[in-house]
Amino acid sequence: MGMMRQYELVDRVKRYNPNTDEELLNRAYVYAMRAHGTQKRASGDPFFAHPLEVAAILTELKLDDATIVAAVLHDTVEDTEATLEEIETLFGPDIRRLVDGLTKIKKLDLVSKKAAQGENFRKLLLAIVDDIRVLLVKLADRLHNMRTLHYVPPEKRLRVAEETIEIYAPLAGRMGMQELREELEELAFRHIKPEAHATITKRLEEVTQREGKVIGEIESDLKAKLAERGIEAQVYGRRKRPYSIWKKMERKSVSFEQLSDIFGFRVIVDKPEDCYRVLGIVHMTWPMVPGRYKDYISTPKQNDYRSLHTTVVGPGRQRVELQIRTDGMDRVAEFGIAAHARYKDGRTAGVVAAADESRAYQWLRRTVDLLAEGDNPEEFLEHTKLELFHDQVFCFTPKGRLIALPRGATPIDFAYAVHTDVGNTAVGAKINGRIAPLLTELQNGDEVEITRAEGQAPPAAWESLVVTGKARAAIRRATRVAVRRQYAGLGRQILERAFMRAERPFSDDKLKAALKRLARTAVDDVLAAVGRGEMFSGDVVRAVYPDLEPEKRGATGDAKAKPSGKGWFELRQGENLKFKLPNETPGSDAIPIRGLGGDLPVRFAPGGGAVPGDRIVGILTPGEAVTIYPIQSPSLAAFDNEPERWLDVRWDLDDKRPQRFPARIQLNSINEPGSLAQITTTIAEHDGNIDAVSMVRPTPDFTDVTIDLTVWDLKHLSAIISELREKRVISRVERVVA
Ligand code: MN
Repeated sequence: MGMMRQYELVDRVKRYNPNTDEELLNRAYVYAMRAHGTQKRASGDPFFAHPLEVAAILTELKLDDATIVAAVLHDTVEDTEATLEEIETLFGPDIRRLVDGLTKIKKLDLVSKKAAQGENFRKLLLAIVDDIRVLLVKLADRLHNMRTLHYVPPEKRLRVAEETIEIYAPLAGRMGMQELREELEELAFRHIKPEAHATITKRLEEVTQREGKVIGEIESDLKAKLAERGIEAQVYGRRKRPYSIWKKMERKSVSFEQLSDIFGFRVIVDKPEDCYRVLGIVHMTWPMVPGRYKDYISTPKQNDYRSLHTTVVGPGRQRVELQIRTDGMDRVAEFGIAAHARYKDGRTAGVVAAADESRAYQWLRRTVDLLAEGDNPEEFLEHTKLELFHDQVFCFTPKGRLIALPRGATPIDFAYAVHTDVGNTAVGAKINGRIAPLLTELQNGDEVEITRAEGQAPPAAWESLVVTGKARAAIRRATRVAVRRQYAGLGRQILERAFMRAERPFSDDKLKAALKRLARTAVDDVLAAVGRGEMFSGDVVRAVYPDLEPEKRGATGDAKAKPSGKGWFELRQGENLKFKLPNETPGSDAIPIRGLGGDLPVRFAPGGGAVPGDRIVGILTPGEAVTIYPIQSPSLAAFDNEPERWLDVRWDLDDKRPQRFPARIQLNSINEPGSLAQITTTIAEHDGNIDAVSMVRPTPDFTDVTIDLTVWDLKHLSAIISELREKRVISRVERVVA
């Protein structure tokens, strides 16, 4: 391929811009040619051929003179003796700024070490946000490098290809430049997964030979049908590219054989209303595939893309995807932001401003704003990458504010996108006026209303369920804070009681004075450590009052919680429990327990925990929540020798927020049809929630059944047990505690 001559470049620009500054283009050509001199590319071509090809790509996008000149000069400052000062003198400040931006991002490595990657990505976005033409030249530069990548030594290829598919292709897509994106992906895919690429290409050819005639049939069918209704349209059929097929195979985990829609059609009409008429005709001609119709005309994508999408079952039962749009929409779909940035009627000055108004550009602005807020470049990269890759869904607040989210987003993501506080206090959602679970996947056009409750903290489990980086980071932060607050709260209660027993006053100031002795830097650290069971309250008491006599047994004195005699509880597992409340009430200095989701880190013993009404004991396990056991629990024997882990606790339930608690019962039932149904129905009728049922079959006539259920309290549990005892099919029922 011969190198482009000077007049050829000028001719290309003149074709769309008759007012081009020929002299400027010529000056740039000569300057860059001299600067690069005898430098060679990996292909053996003169280096200068590269900036010329980059400029040629940009003439296809019909860009203004400054962009074309910047493309010709883009490698001079980094790779030759040329300086920015010289460029400014010869070509003016506008072009200097573009070349400066391109020089800054030339050496950025966007795929190597994670931390540097985030920082470099930040630099890239900052360099392009002020003038989108920097990105346009960069993308053309990358496209030409990818087209000639096979000349580069193999060990370097992979890095460039990965950077292309991870950063530049999605960025092109985000800016709405679909054609460019697809070519970049295709070229990169070839190098990253050569075998997958080869296999899919081969299969595609086989399918095309077998069924390719369908393309022609559909084209002519469709044209005829549209002409009948007086709609003038251009119809293009095309086979999808290997990379988009591979992505679909990966995303849906299907094999090539199962993948049916590999042909796509584009119908181009004059007016937007014609798009809908075409859609009607298409749907009346072939059966549509449900769930595939998308209207990006009424709700454009955030990169300004507008089109109707649908999939139909065409001739030969071949699934066929259609994109229906106007000429203008098609241009934006192809060129994206470049369609705004392109040369218009001799107005070069308005070029950048026009691009600024596009939604794609607004995304870029917002992303850069986020950068300014963000502290962690890695988290930022994760966040931005996710947004680059996912298709978007557009949802609305009840007031009509548009919230764009990655596909797969839930109302939780939505809430965090509105505001961090809204996310942190979200407890429910209404989608299109109907109550929906917070984990519903949002669809385009959904109106989402978030129900909030003040003083809520997001459950830690949300972190793995959300898809936006913003929500994930906020949840991580909020749960970290909430968990720490819980442990510190528990620690404070434990310490208050320990000091009371030692008959010494307790205050934060006193604790502060002893921080050094405790090897901690903050009062909260001490409180949290005690709450976590990592530090014993007795040690803290002695650190504050070194004159105190060491306690004889158990560091904390919390051992008092442990029942000393058998006197007050006679309930033992296996006995016929009477479910009477214990006579003795726990001491008023016992730590109040509000159940799960209260202010303290609490869990209930699995396999038969405590329910309100039970006399309870807490066991402290370092690094874990306090486990609450009923006092009659046989598991408690295991902690006999560790009195410092026993906590005296009592119920303190919030009547306004009733909760259920896990319990376990065991029963023995006659084997006959319907007996299990009778058992479960009885429990359900009496408002018990069954979590699990397991059966063992000791004899042919009887079955032992273990049921995990949740109940409101001990009274509720004993009522259910009495009801079960009334059943003829049940011979024995008892509660089990872990
Ligand atoms: Mn270059």
